[in-house]
Amino acid sequence: YTQSKALVFTRFGEPADVLHLHTHSISPTLPQGAVLLRTLAAPVNPADVNTIQGTYGARPDFASQDPNSPTNKTRLLLGTPEPAAVPGNEGCFEVTAVGPGVDAGKLKRGNWVIPAGPGFGTFRTHALVEDAVGRLVKVDGTGLSPVQVATVSVNPCSAYRMLRDYVDLVGESVRRFASADPPRGGMWFIQNGANSGVGRAAIQLGRLWGLRSINVVRERETVEETEGLKAELKELGADVVVTEKEFLDRSFGARLKEEWTRGGREPVLLGLNCVGGQSASAMVKALGPRGCMVTYGGMSRQSFPFPTGPAIFKRLRFEGFWLTEWGKENPEEKRRMINEILDLMRQGKFKQMPVQEVKWDWDTEEQVLKDAIQGTLAGFRSGKGLFVF
Ligand code: NDP
Repeated sequence: YTQSKALVFTRFGEPADVLHLHTHSISPTLPQGAVLLRTLAAPVNPADVNTIQGTYGARPDFASQDPNSPTNKTRLLLGTPEPAAVPGNEGCFEVTAVGPGVDAGKLKRGNWVIPAGPGFGTFRTHALVEDAVGRLVKVDGTGLSPVQVATVSVNPCSAYRMLRDYVDLVGESVRRFASADPPRGGMWFIQNGANSGVGRAAIQLGRLWGLRSINVVRERETVEETEGLKAELKELGADVVVTEKEFLDRSFGARLKEEWTRGGREPVLLGLNCVGGQSASAMVKALGPRGCMVTYGGMSRQSFPFPTGPAIFKRLRFEGFWLTEWGKENPEEKRRMINEILDLMRQGKFKQMPVQEVKWDWDTEEQVLKDAIQGTLAGFRSGKGLFVF
């Protein structure tokens, strides 16, 4: 038998209040089509906390009487007294045992895999996965760390889709700038929350695809720290980095026009909104005619007024992005994109976001694990929390 531990919750609330560390054992006789996984690394994303709080778009249904509902399946598999959910959407796992009926060409012992879809439950030491071939993406771990593989499928994939699917910046860059003499530029996009995992991925992918980025970050406590953060993002490929304060200042419009966009002749046509509130309203002003703002996060927990004038006179487009839905609609493209990004990492063209590793071994106390999750939304952190096993 494999002894296993999992964080579970049976009702919504603050992670510190509702999570429990549950111990169970997994039989060596695996069901048809199942594999047993050992977790290597799993990051804690903001959505994981929101899911535990019950405020996320996808909610485990603890009240369901259906024996096949995911929370009841978790109860049966883990032996919890009530319907339960394991939090965590992303992770890198190693296949340690394979049940009957699993095509060895698709999955075998020693392979590294990541969950194909959301709601997998990655905050656990082991996972018994039924219908394994469809629920897992096999990855070639050559030249990659478990941390790189564990963090590829949410942040970089979201940045990738938002830069490609709303405005054809890449094609327009070729049309407008490829033959410029002297060579210059690429189309602009603007983003707030630029220091987030998604933001850092957008900076890097944008640069690789010949785009230019204006990046908004929160001011740090000291000027040195703020300048350090700006320099770090520029190192990743950011063209312009400004603080929220500079962004909200009246002078920003003139700077945008004069310093960066040649009097508005090279307009910003895409905005990625991670923050909401005033920052989102400022982004509306920065967008050029027919620009598009894609909202994907609400880190400030503030909404923003729908800007009637700009929507009409600049004919702006407002879109929402949710990777979960996109992934359900495009499973094959998701697998392809993951492998493309892993390739970039392997070639050293895509840098890992900073992480704060939290070691999870057999003796790690429940409180340490809960603290790591509870701290996720605190902000001004030196990196994303990530369990390593
Ligand atoms: P990270 O955990 O990597 O970073 C969080 C970021 O949020 C930090 O850069 C932090 O800024 C910033 N932040 C925190 N509080 C505030 C605040 N009050 N005002 C402004 N900025 C703030 O985040 P992720 O990249 O994983 O996710 C970022 C956002 O994107 C989240 O809202 C997440 O839910 C969302 N997301 C949405 C997806 C979708 O499909 N819609 C997919 C992936 C992510 P600082 O550096 O200054 O601390």
